[in-house]
Amino acid sequence: MRLSSHRVLFVLMSVLATSNVIAARCQQGIIADNPTDLLRVGDKVIKVNEAIRMVQGFGNTFMVTTSEGNVIIDTSIAVHARKHHQLLAAENSGPTKYIILTHAHGDHTGGVPLWKEPGTQIIAQKNHVEFVHYQARLAGFYSKRNAAQFGLSLPSPGTWAGNYGGKIEPTILFDEKYEFTLGGVKFEIYWTPGETYDHLTVWIPKYKAAFTGDNYYESFPNIYTLRGTEPRWALDYVNSLNTVLGFKPEIVLPSHGRPINGNPEITRRLTRYRDAIQYVHDEVVKGMNAGKDVYTLMREIKLPAALDIGESYGNLVWSIRGIYEGYVGWFDLNPATMYDRPPASVYPDVVKLAGGPDAIAAIANQRVQAGDAVAALHLTDIALAADPRHRRSLEARLKALEILRSRCKNTNERGWLDFSTKVTTSLLDQKQ
Ligand SMILES: [Zn+2]
Repeated sequence: MRLSSHRVLFVLMSVLATSNVIAARCQQGIIADNPTDLLRVGDKVIKVNEAIRMVQGFGNTFMVTTSEGNVIIDTSIAVHARKHHQLLAAENSGPTKYIILTHAHGDHTGGVPLWKEPGTQIIAQKNHVEFVHYQARLAGFYSKRNAAQFGLSLPSPGTWAGNYGGKIEPTILFDEKYEFTLGGVKFEIYWTPGETYDHLTVWIPKYKAAFTGDNYYESFPNIYTLRGTEPRWALDYVNSLNTVLGFKPEIVLPSHGRPINGNPEITRRLTRYRDAIQYVHDEVVKGMNAGKDVYTLMREIKLPAALDIGESYGNLVWSIRGIYEGYVGWFDLNPATMYDRPPASVYPDVVKLAGGPDAIAAIANQRVQAGDAVAALHLTDIALAADPRHRRSLEARLKALEILRSRCKNTNERGWLDFSTKVTTSLLDQKQ
């Protein structure tokens, strides 16, 4: 029996709905980016110095204490926020005078309701407003993508909030720079776009401490993220990292992972990070101007050893495509691409020409044997377009996914390989 596209969608949705790696609910499609320590909630307070406390998690929470009350910087994802709140409030029960949100991703804003008190000021960069609306506008799309990428359970769809239906929490929105003093401690807040266009950095001169959100973490950045994103501009990252380096910080506190201490180490790490991004950006631009297509650049551009900052979260190949298509969009000069029929619309003709899906599955298996798992995925795409439940093709596909998973060192790639494995397995398990 052939499987209709509705049936495939149903299978996909059931896989998502039953996925329960953690009991977390991917709230209303709120977007999260989580480079390290995926899904692990911190269980202790880290004392960074006499005034700065933090708890690590799927988004860290920071508390800066002053004699007139506390400032909270980022609030983690909702499922971790309660624990963070409990641990930090036990350290210092002073009033929360300010909450500063480095950006509007859900793994930074999830604890706002827990920290907000009457009179608490909530500070964000002015682009926060559009970013929150954008996330609410596409909540249905992103809830499915987030659940798949992070292995979360699928939230109930809810009703569409409309184009401007996001909940805007901040009471203070600024453009380029905002500063305030609390208990004699001066807080300077700078617009530092990078991972998002509402991104900010908090600089406390007294402690020489910079809170950098997600503009630095221990991997090449997610200049494109597979769950979907508007363009993230490589040159924004470069400029914002330069802003942070210009402070000459002694402590850098990223919103994922551990603090970095000491200006020499901070300078070494942030400079290398900046230069890696700049290198990839410039190579893409040079290639584009030389007339190279995006796939050629995805294969050709590699980081020099001195700039190899790892790809455990972001990835060069997706970032190269993100930079290329961020600048110029999707058209590849092929006239067939101008129209509304994808290559897959003629795959059934190819299968007919091959004498049926068995022949394609056989070549896919040869590719699997040779270790060319990506070719096997493409071939099974062709066979499954003609017969979505073709057993040999599904089996070859599973083996290809297994090979890719065994080689995989990237959290996001692993998330999508796992998701595809679940979808493929559940199609195989269904009665013919
Ligand atoms: Zn984040």
